[in-house]
Amino acid sequence: MSLDGNLDASYTALPEAFYTKMSPKPVSKPQMVKWNEELAERLGIEREGVLEFLAGNSFPEGAQPIAQAYAGHQFGNFTMLGDGRAILLGEWQNRSGQKVDIQLKGAGRTPYSRGGDGRAALGPMLREYIISEAMHGLGIPTTRSLAVVSTGEPVYRETTLPGAVLTRIASSHIRVGTFEYAGRFCSETDLMDLADYSINRHYPELAGQPDKYVRFFHAVVERQAKLLAKWVSVGFIHGVMNTDNMTISGETIDYGPCAFLDAYKPMTVFSSIDIQGRYAYANQPPIAAWNLARFAEAMLPLFNEVPAEAVKQAEDILREFPQVYRKSWLDIMYSKIGITDAKEGDEKLVEDLLGLMEQAAADYTNTFRALTMDDTAALEQMEGFESWKERWDDRIGVKGTDAARDLMRQYNPNIIPRNHLVEEALDAAGNGDYTLFNHLCDLVSNPFHYEPVDSKYTEDPPEPEEPFQTFCGT
Ligand code: AMP
Ligand code: MG
Repeated sequence: MSLDGNLDASYTALPEAFYTKMSPKPVSKPQMVKWNEELAERLGIEREGVLEFLAGNSFPEGAQPIAQAYAGHQFGNFTMLGDGRAILLGEWQNRSGQKVDIQLKGAGRTPYSRGGDGRAALGPMLREYIISEAMHGLGIPTTRSLAVVSTGEPVYRETTLPGAVLTRIASSHIRVGTFEYAGRFCSETDLMDLADYSINRHYPELAGQPDKYVRFFHAVVERQAKLLAKWVSVGFIHGVMNTDNMTISGETIDYGPCAFLDAYKPMTVFSSIDIQGRYAYANQPPIAAWNLARFAEAMLPLFNEVPAEAVKQAEDILREFPQVYRKSWLDIMYSKIGITDAKEGDEKLVEDLLGLMEQAAADYTNTFRALTMDDTAALEQMEGFESWKERWDDRIGVKGTDAARDLMRQYNPNIIPRNHLVEEALDAAGNGDYTLFNHLCDLVSNPFHYEPVDSKYTEDPPEPEEPFQTFCGT
């Protein structure tokens, strides 16, 4: 189906404080450099005629494009933000009746741009494309990427770079920061409208419930705890977990300086701007809880008329976060070592393996991959591995082995978008050659295929000359 005449704008029914009506700013020479056929098909969006829309050169008939307002805590400090370079074209109903946002990232300046140019560079948009698609392939809730359009115009960062617009698909773009914005700058009725809208869109089962706002908060806390367990289980580091980069839907959003762990070092930080290591790999679950506390603060007036009661309700729910997180994480970790029927001692088996991996700075993905493939020769250099393996063999037993390995193949990726592979593919794409990028996209979109591939995609990364860094320079 064409986008013409088929986009909703339900967000514009919210009070005007939540958005600004805005058209994307046209670009001179749009070219579709990546199109996600699988996603397009799933959504039922046809490619023909879509380029001018996705470049921002025109918008679909009947669309009411907007920039959304939001605030957020960035590295712990509250600030006003908003879509400074993104335009929500509208909402699209997919084939199963679900509504998704179609957003153009890099579509020009808006009233929320502050000093920014409203644009995005090609490299970071291709990066978001590939990492978000890899996350989806890994079974992790995430916004997705429908297309990358190069603009033919330069953007000026530390150097001059080619510009691009990413088409992002999200079940919505409502963030913790959207509620913080409502809590600080809007009336209580506006806040309630936003909460009702979010409930109807993401948690419709709560709509008729008497204490729906508390339940809504509870549901978001649960979804986020489960999301974080998934991130940690695949070695994902988001890199910039500010409250504006955390959704109410429970999808991963805003792929800036994110990256996957190679060596298992829990305090790994890749982002060049994260000087203090606030968003280090192992800090992510407590940071998510911190962000959710900011969400609770914004929502307090809706929880209870008596402030002390509202605070108590919020605290009781927040206190569950570590338990929900831990349980989800352990369930995944058990599956990663082939255990379905967890019992006493299994937690220690997981912890002990991670302890050995940390001591040896073993590759996170490849340790589990080697266990899955029963090809553990390389792991034997890890001190203490042999005795751990004896315990593990005893635990899953010879009879359980086939079933265990089937399970492990569903939880331990054969392939992840490793930093050096992504950089290599982006460099080539920057020079106009998309072969590597397309190939890597295909591979990481199906991470659990245990088919033989060129070993460069699965082997441990080369020892870097300098520690790998990711940049927000987006
Ligand atoms: P992010 O780091 O992508 O989460 O962005 C944080 C805030 O900065 C958001 O309000 C963005 O809209 C805004 N922003 C990022 N890059 C730009 C840019 N090039 N122009 C205008 N606003 C931007
Ligand atoms: Mg953001």
